[in-house]
Amino acid sequence: AEKFPHLKRDESFKKLSEEDLAFFKSILPPSAVTQDEGDLDAYNNDWMLKYRGQSKLVLKPSTTDQVSKILKYCNDNRLAVVPQGGNTGLVGGGVPVFDEIILSTANMSNIRSFDPISGALVCDAGCILEVLDNYLAEQGYIMPLDLGAKGSCHIGGNVATNAGGLRLLRYGSLHGTVLGLEVVMPDGTILDNLSTLRKDNTGYDLKQLFIGSEGTLGIITGVSILTPKRSKAINVALLGLNSFDQVQAAFKRSKDELSEILSAFEFFDQGSINLVKQHLVAGANDPLESPHPFYVLIETSGSNKDHDDEKLGTFLEGLLTDEIVQDGVVAQDTTQLRNLWSIREGIPEALSKTGSVYKYDFSIPVPVFYSMVEDMKARLEKEGILGEDKEVKCVVGFGHIGDGNLHLNIAAKQYTDRITNLIEPFVYEWASKHAGSVSAEHGLGLMKAPFLHYSKSPTMIQLMKKLKDVMDPNGIMNPYKYLP
Ligand code: FAD
Repeated sequence: AEKFPHLKRDESFKKLSEEDLAFFKSILPPSAVTQDEGDLDAYNNDWMLKYRGQSKLVLKPSTTDQVSKILKYCNDNRLAVVPQGGNTGLVGGGVPVFDEIILSTANMSNIRSFDPISGALVCDAGCILEVLDNYLAEQGYIMPLDLGAKGSCHIGGNVATNAGGLRLLRYGSLHGTVLGLEVVMPDGTILDNLSTLRKDNTGYDLKQLFIGSEGTLGIITGVSILTPKRSKAINVALLGLNSFDQVQAAFKRSKDELSEILSAFEFFDQGSINLVKQHLVAGANDPLESPHPFYVLIETSGSNKDHDDEKLGTFLEGLLTDEIVQDGVVAQDTTQLRNLWSIREGIPEALSKTGSVYKYDFSIPVPVFYSMVEDMKARLEKEGILGEDKEVKCVVGFGHIGDGNLHLNIAAKQYTDRITNLIEPFVYEWASKHAGSVSAEHGLGLMKAPFLHYSKSPTMIQLMKKLKDVMDPNGIMNPYKYLP
């Protein structure tokens, strides 16, 4: 795990006592109170094994009322709390820094209601994204978001991080699709705003504050979300391209020619696909014959297969004729379709098998998108530390190009101060200089709290701090993170 020696435990927080444990055990069944050191490990370590906390207690309430009692007690006694969903976050936000109590939503997994006319789904915060998507598939609907971590992440965690992912291009962000939330405030007050209305201009839209608040303002216990109809016809194509200019040209043309049926436009570089092949991520192999510097995965979703096939075919033919792409393949059945997606979705897993991964997630204007990867490579090469057998094994770029969102990933033998200092703040300055954001979709957590000023003005940060003080005056919710 990476070390954070500059962080000190806030001694105004109480340390867990026998009395506290007795209280928690009085409101929760024994199976919902985890103290065993071996069992705590999975909750104290994050997905990347980069951040490690030292919590002695995980609580797994199953009702909103239990969450309310826990938070009221913690607030009255100044016990710090970390909300945790599927623990797939990539900025160290969901694991404790010191001995904070972990409040997991793992036992809150009921679907509360689904309206097949409007598509409004209301569920507990601990429902796993993929479980919700499978449930909706049976009703002919689809979750408006999808990400590689879908098998583990919770919808509450998705909302808390304002997760973007693979379908944002088509269905927009959670700020648009979330219709209402149920939230337990730090003092135990339950804020019941589980509205299923699409339109409701009555006062400040409080739910928006919790979307992307990463557990710093309260615990999301229920989510109401608008789900779209599942498309009957889905096509996926993988294209090989020679330059990033061609990637941009293909993107522009996809908007022109595929317009309303375009549902994903993802990109990755050769280094990324090489890692997937090398680490044999299940089901992923390269269907294109020769290697290409860049790859694009395009998905279309529509209601008429013949219409979509024709449109996609004409589009791809045009790209080949005009030499915008060098090669391409269209999935012929569901297995091939999944295979193509698994290449793109397998990149994070392949990286984690390569070494300790420095993960960055930027919004950057598309024209300069890939220059960041090239500049980073050049910087590490100049230091003589980039290469298969060196301190840094590879630098790769992939991401949601349709949203202007680049994932820059640097795999090293291990996390070291030297590497960290070569990357940061260089990358943040780079993003800021190009009017980008230092976090497109992963959030701030522990990792990026100190770098918020690269994307937000002092006035904005001041107002954020004031809001935090109003909503969590004792500062018990997810301390040390999010705000500088
Ligand atoms: P956790 O990791 O448990 O928590 C994340 C944050 O939310 C923490 O700060 C935590 O305190 C807080 N939190 C969790 N639950 C609650 C709650 N109920 N109330 C209040 N606060 C809460 N992200 C994207 O945006 N797009 C992607 O495409 C994407 N792909 C990914 C692929 C992989 C393989 C992995 C591992 C991660 C990916 N992510 C992606 C990261 C993404 O942020 C998370 O996967 C997901 O949104 C977090 O959900 P979670 O339940 O795991 O939350």
